[in-house]
Order: sequence, then C-alpha cells, then structure tokens
Amino acid sequence: MAEPRLVNAAAIAGARRLGATTRLAAIFGDPVSHSLSPVMHNAAYAALGVDRAYVAFHVRPPDLAAAVRAIPALGIVGANITVPHKERAARMVARLSAEARMLGAINCVVNRTLELVGDNTDARGLERDLRSLELALDDRIVIVIGAGGAAGSAIVAALRLGARRIVIANRTPARAQSLRRRLRARLTTDLERVPIDVRGLDALTDIEVMSRAALVMNATPMGLVSPGFARMNAKATPRNCFFYDLVYAANPTAFINAAIGAGRPCADGAGMLVNQGELAFELFNGVAAPAGVMHRTIWEKLARRPGDLHA
Ligand code: NAP
Repeated sequence: MAEPRLVNAAAIAGARRLGATTRLAAIFGDPVSHSLSPVMHNAAYAALGVDRAYVAFHVRPPDLAAAVRAIPALGIVGANITVPHKERAARMVARLSAEARMLGAINCVVNRTLELVGDNTDARGLERDLRSLELALDDRIVIVIGAGGAAGSAIVAALRLGARRIVIANRTPARAQSLRRRLRARLTTDLERVPIDVRGLDALTDIEVMSRAALVMNATPMGLVSPGFARMNAKATPRNCFFYDLVYAANPTAFINAAIGAGRPCADGAGMLVNQGELAFELFNGVAAPAGVMHRTIWEKLARRPGDLHA
C-alpha cells in the first residue's frame, strides 16, 4: 500500500481558518499555476485575520464567460484577470472604471452589490513602483517594448511620470500603431500631446534612439517564451538609463541580463506585481492592504530583496 503523503503543518493551520462562512477572492488565467497572487493575497488575509481566502482558477478561453458569471453566483468578492483574458473580460462586466476604459482591458472584476465592475490596476501599480525608483526622465525618451495590454499600462505610467517622448518598439509595428490610436482616443488632453513614435524592434539597436533614452521598459514575454532577448544595444544608452522588465522571475531575465551586462540600473516587475496587487486587494475587500505584508511575501517567495537586480 502506498505511504500516506506527508502534509505540511502550516498548510493544515491555513486550512483550519477556512469554514462555512469563508468568502473567496480569485484569479482567472490560462496558465495560472505559476501565479504568485494567491500567496500574496492570502498573506494579507492572514495578517488581518479576516475570514477570506484567495484561490487560482485555471480558466480556459471558452469558459471565461461562465467563470465571470460565477462571481456573483458564488459570492466571490473579486477576481483578478490575467493572460490571456484581460481584453475579453472587459466586455463581460456591467461597468468599467475610467482607467479600464482607457486601457481597453481589465485585471480586476469587483463584485459590487448590484453589478460587476471591471477595473485595471496595472498602470497605477507600475507607476507606483517607478516612482519609488526616483527616475529622472528629463527631456529624454521612454522606450516601451511590446504593444499588448502591459505595454499600454507602461505607456500610461510613463506619461503620468512626465515622459516627454515615447517610442513603442514592437515586432509587429501595425499592432503598435493600433495601440497608439486607441490610447490617443482615450487619453486626457494633457497626456495626449506627448509624441508617441512607433518602430520595429530595430529601434533597440538604433544609436540615435538608444543614446537619448532615460527608461527602457520590456512589456513582452521575450526570454520566457523564446530563448534570449531581441538584439539590443544597451551600451548605447546614457549611463543612468533605467531598464525595467515588467516580467518578474527569481533569476534575472534575458532583458535584465542585457542591462546588467551594460552596467545600467535595472529592476524587474516584482514591484509592479505587489503594487497592482495591493490596489486590487483594496478594491476587493474595501480595506487597505496591511502595510508591507504583500511586499515581504513576494520578495521571500522570489528569494531576493528589492534592489538586488540593480547593476
Ligand atoms: P500580450 O498582450 O500577449 O503582448 C505581448 C507583446 O509581446 C506583443 O506586443 C508581442 O508582439 C510581443 N511578443 C510576444 N512574443 C514575442 C517574441 N517572441 N518576440 C518579440 N515580441 C514578442 O501580453 P501582455 O498582457 O501585454 O503581457 C506582456 C508581459 O508583461 C507578460 O509576459 C507579463 O508577464 C508581463 N506583465 C507583468 C505584470 C506585473 O505585474 N509585473 C503585469 C502585467 C503583465 P507582436 O505584437 O508582434 O505579437
């Protein structure tokens, strides 16, 4: 007969907190098993001692509408929405926040008394993290690599930080053009005046562009879904040009390695993850996230500290 599996004592203690009155929050994604959101939100619930738990649901695209409808049916307080559902889910809720309308995508569904509200905390989460890095953008260029939902958030965050010129560098320039068109139509008037240029990935080796960059942000899964990163002349950037990878991982990503190789300051998206998560926690639970708990949980999980990646 097979040996009974040993069960972790901490898991039993955690499970004991769950009962017939426990309310759930959740994340829907495909894939989702890699997500650090459950550990981060559950640490916050444990710190506050509230009868709530956060779980990950592997929701495939054909099941998304049924999963969203289940939120009020099951009394789920709110659900984070991750790849590949952010844009489609925005069409499945009763109301969108102004931020979600501007970004054309949601990463949160909030279960309000009478309706489901879609919101997006990605741009605000990234903006908070970039502010904490105290970057000096001056009059120089912000380069955003990618043209998906994360790139839209990166552009909005850069504009709010005072960027004066943005270059979108994307494998498919036509997709970057449509992102620019969409944002232009929805940005507030003071932000819409900032020039946004569209280029292919060749911009990353163009000395004219790179030598005027203050911030280069990767908003693609390059290095995760493909070996290595696109050719990029990081050494052509000014010495204090900051490299920010929206992707986060325990070890430096290919993009971060390029920055470190050139001796440039850099950070990955772990800080953005925490900040967007804290904002989502507030939306779902109506209370502020307990100070520092979500931060500490993520850095422990990644087995490193903020700033460790800096060159
Ligand atoms: P997405 O909508 O799928 O967009 C992906 C973008 O990456 C597209 O512009 C695509 O270019 C480009 N791309 C994909 N594979 C490529 C490759 N092999 N070579 C060159 N370009 C490639 O994804 P998303 O939702 O914007 O997310 C992008 C990344 O941001 C994800 O990896 C995610 O982990 C990260 N993210 C992090 C956080 C956080 O909290 N830290 C939050 C949100 C997202 P084409 O247009 O040419 O296809």
